[in-house]
Amino acid sequence: MKMKCLRSLVWAAVAAVTLTGWSAQAAPIRIVTTLTDLADFARNVGGDHVEVFSLATGIEDTHGVPMKPSFLPRLNRADLLLLIGFGCEHAFLPALIEASKNPRIEYGHPGYVDCSQGIDPVGVPKSTDHSQGDVHPYGNPHYLLDPVLARTAVSNICAALVQNFPQYAADFTRNRDAYLAQLDAKIAAWEQAAAVLKGVKFVSYHEHWPYFAKRFGLDYIGTIELKPGIDPTPRHIEELVNEMKAQHVPIVVREPQFPEKVPALIAKQTGATLVKLPIMPGGVPHTGTYIEMMDYLIRTMVGAVAK
Ligand SMILES: [Zn+2]
Ligand SMILES: [Zn+2]
Repeated sequence: MKMKCLRSLVWAAVAAVTLTGWSAQAAPIRIVTTLTDLADFARNVGGDHVEVFSLATGIEDTHGVPMKPSFLPRLNRADLLLLIGFGCEHAFLPALIEASKNPRIEYGHPGYVDCSQGIDPVGVPKSTDHSQGDVHPYGNPHYLLDPVLARTAVSNICAALVQNFPQYAADFTRNRDAYLAQLDAKIAAWEQAAAVLKGVKFVSYHEHWPYFAKRFGLDYIGTIELKPGIDPTPRHIEELVNEMKAQHVPIVVREPQFPEKVPALIAKQTGATLVKLPIMPGGVPHTGTYIEMMDYLIRTMVGAVAK
């Protein structure tokens, strides 16, 4: 009898410690994102309730993030998976989801969060035969380079967090509002700084920039790639160079994941300025957050125009 009493006391003590431990410090919500901008948004909205891991570090091709051994355990334990959508990740993500053996983040489940909901894509292919390239199958997925569309992604992330973890709804909503207010102030500043970019012509390696160009009034003339995801041919480069000379295009954009050789050659042949622009946070130094990246993009383009 005495022994039994002691044992239940010990059990009660263990249970009490476990329970207080739980309520005082609940396990963080585990979020995996494909790209670094989504990770930055998730940290801002989730605050201290979340632990965020991005598959990309910032320098990769958004359509082909190379697999690392760390991905599968991260995905296996994830509560939420945040992705860009419009097929941006279709070359690498479906296989990772399958291999992760985590039903929470499978397509159609509440932990699978497509951040493009509510966004109208540009450049939707008229056919699905992949003759227009394979990497933009449902339209151009690079909408986060327009900070106004980034607001939609931030709100989608907040909605997914609230749906999955309603106990923290007030915190998530407050964090979202604070971040959007910060973003809105920056958008006003970027639009003001970008006034000198109105009508400025440019080309880039990959078709990353239609949303950016539309937001800030630039004139996007073409890409070095033949089609999204398809390498240039000598004939295409010759045509692009002639077109750039005829239209006096002053800027060639090179994204960090593509080699510098061809863009540098085109800049040299046309007298244009070559600039290296990140397409997500971390793509070049000092662009660790989305806001820092947008600052960098506007500053660099304005600097190139001033030359
Ligand atoms: Zn395909
Ligand atoms: Zn693309």
